[in-house]
Amino acid sequence: MDLPRNPTRPVQIGSVIIGDGNPLAVQSMCATHTQDIEATVGQANALLEAGADVVRIAADSKKDAESLVQIRRETTANLSVDLQENYRLAELIGPHVDKIRYNPGHLYHHEREKPWQEKVKYIVGIAGDNDCAIRVGVNCGSVDPAKADKYGADDSISPMLESALDHCAFLDSLGFERYCVSLKDSDPEKVIEVNKRFAAERPDVPLHLGVTEAGMPPDGIIKTRIAFEQLISRGIGDTIRVSLTLPNARKPEEIDAGRQILADIAAGRVRSFVDFQLDTLNIISCPSCSRVENEAFIDLAQDVKEMTQYAKDHAITIAVMGCRVNGPGETDDADLGLWCGPTVVNLKKGPQALGAYSYDEILPRLRAELDALIAEREGAGV
Ligand code: SF4
Repeated sequence: MDLPRNPTRPVQIGSVIIGDGNPLAVQSMCATHTQDIEATVGQANALLEAGADVVRIAADSKKDAESLVQIRRETTANLSVDLQENYRLAELIGPHVDKIRYNPGHLYHHEREKPWQEKVKYIVGIAGDNDCAIRVGVNCGSVDPAKADKYGADDSISPMLESALDHCAFLDSLGFERYCVSLKDSDPEKVIEVNKRFAAERPDVPLHLGVTEAGMPPDGIIKTRIAFEQLISRGIGDTIRVSLTLPNARKPEEIDAGRQILADIAAGRVRSFVDFQLDTLNIISCPSCSRVENEAFIDLAQDVKEMTQYAKDHAITIAVMGCRVNGPGETDDADLGLWCGPTVVNLKKGPQALGAYSYDEILPRLRAELDALIAEREGAGV
């Protein structure tokens, strides 16, 4: 496959090099519990077998970090670790992985008195000592609070962009160049715009592309395809992930979907552009990862999709998220949001919490709220 790329610098992640004209690398993430070593190794190897160039694993605790030592021994996959608030886990994990992903928006919550620059410097030290690459992973639902406050509520792109650019400048000032950046949103239009703007300012920095919480196939693949076609055909993007809500056994389908999209773009088999300013129902759901707190989330996401079909002609967005780490923030922009805890599902209307319901109760509650929202909008002539 020969897709002309932007002149990004090379970044080595284990046995793979992204950027510098190399073929686009395809990644995925384990959705198993990291401490379930057998299941995580099984999934990492299944992804590798499906052709994953990099496999990401979440580490939120010391026990997760310890599990990674064993996981490393049992798979030859290039491993990336996903750090959340507890950035200090990096020192336990660095020797066992090929890449460390940190989220600028999450660096604030732990050791609040410490400036983010100090935390990044620490992560860079670990990466440098252990031959690791870094991904600065900026996400619409968890953007750096200082940046979000600086711009109006209707501008979600500028805070993401500024956060990414600040981190790049800081990494450069440390003399660390082995990094890439991702700027993800659940809206493909925003993914296109923010990545285009970033690439215009920093054409040298490799980009990891993805539409977050794209949902289930086929819709999730379509949303991702829309963004990738617009970006990859312009030379933007060095590695990709297609995030799909899938049961664990089907996770390798993310790799198949990614390779298929790349092959189609390379062959010019692009779909005509779809305007994603939807005037129809839009269901977004997270791709699930080791942080899912109740496996019932996967069935719930499917049930929500089926139950809400009656509202398919209404311009309403419903978000279904698998955990408390990203669920509360990433449901704020949806008209109705559900984020799943171990025993209850939290229901929201925009940023407002409506209550917590058992997995058995949630569908009728959601339906009542959806009916009320449709009636409200029809009453207002929307
Ligand atoms: S919302 Fe939670 S469970 Fe879902 S992908 Fe994000 S971190 Fe994982």
